[in-house]
Amino acid sequence: MAANGKAESPMYDYTLDAIADAPSKGVLNPPPRLLCGPGPGNAHPRVLSAMSLPEIGHLDPAFLSMMEDIKEMLRYVWQTNNAFTVPVSGTGSAAMEACVANLVEVGDKMLVGCNGYFGPRLIDMGDRYGAECIEMKKPWGEVFSYEEIKAALEEHKPKILGLVHAETSTGACQPLEGIGQLCHEYDCLLIADCVTSISGVPCHLDKWGVDAAYAGTQKCLSCPPGVSPLTFSQRAMDKLMARPDKVKNWYLDMKMVASYLVGSGAGGARSYHHTAPISMCYGIREALNIACEEGLEARWKRHREVAEFFWVELEKIGLECHVSKEYRLPSLTTVKVPEGVDSKKLTKLLLDKYQMEIGNGLGDLAGKVWRIGLMGYNSRFDVAMTVVAALKDGLS
Ligand code: PLP
Repeated sequence: MAANGKAESPMYDYTLDAIADAPSKGVLNPPPRLLCGPGPGNAHPRVLSAMSLPEIGHLDPAFLSMMEDIKEMLRYVWQTNNAFTVPVSGTGSAAMEACVANLVEVGDKMLVGCNGYFGPRLIDMGDRYGAECIEMKKPWGEVFSYEEIKAALEEHKPKILGLVHAETSTGACQPLEGIGQLCHEYDCLLIADCVTSISGVPCHLDKWGVDAAYAGTQKCLSCPPGVSPLTFSQRAMDKLMARPDKVKNWYLDMKMVASYLVGSGAGGARSYHHTAPISMCYGIREALNIACEEGLEARWKRHREVAEFFWVELEKIGLECHVSKEYRLPSLTTVKVPEGVDSKKLTKLLLDKYQMEIGNGLGDLAGKVWRIGLMGYNSRFDVAMTVVAALKDGLS
């Protein structure tokens, strides 16, 4: 620094430009919300503690060993033996796009079940990667029957079928039993969106013949958003490995990501692709461990029992669910907004008065339903009853 306070070199000019004073905002203090909307739900306290542990390097043997634990536990919660089962860096949409970017080749026909908000997102992605996209439509809140899916496969002969297992916009659960096997008869891969089902709703990926599935952490796993589970079957891996071209997304190229997450170098050596989000990986590791400690059957049943209780209590205060009980998701309930009630006014009241977040309807269901999530850590009788009490007060 020269005696006049000026930097000697323009490369290291330490005087600030005339923009603004340092915009210091004080210590972060988010309001203590009870998150009962479509997600994120409240993270489990143990997950938050795990996320505050000291970082280690992403190539540290201890980190790689933890990554193996994550992969093993993910296989368990998804009931799959798929070797390629990993946490993708990014939220659920990143793993969703990873499915499309890696498995769709230019000109492939991609059929997608569109009975809510997230099917059209798959279509949008397929379109961007050069697929010939075909919408299979149903009203929001309904699901596709085996026969309807078979007829659509017969008519369009797609290379990929995308179905949303748990449609967060409608609260409907798409049955997937037998659908993978059906797809394989037509030489088609099945992609399933499990964002709102993973660990809270029965998922039997191998039994159902699902070839690719993606999920989020911020719903039934009760971990903040930031990494997203992804799995590919051998069929899906074979399609990816046989591609003559490069995957059209550098960050989400799973052949390259595998070199780090799976170890495809000599002797299984791992090489750097991108820096794994260390604290997020701690979070998902702890969230999966909590699910494993509870046991999957117990966890699925807890979600079901709490949801059934919630539905009965809703009925007692004169509220109705949008989806027929047979296909209703235990993790996310859409509740019909009664005639003459301003849905957004009620969600605002719950937030302001009770620090409670519930979701408004989306798309075709905007203004018609509320979306209430009782997921993971929040799938509890006390939380269900608190939501009912707040709704009752808000509607009185
Ligand atoms: N699919 C479904 C069914 C979802 O509910 C969501 C998010 O809520 C996504 C995909 C996208 O996930 P994210 O918002 O974490 O990117």
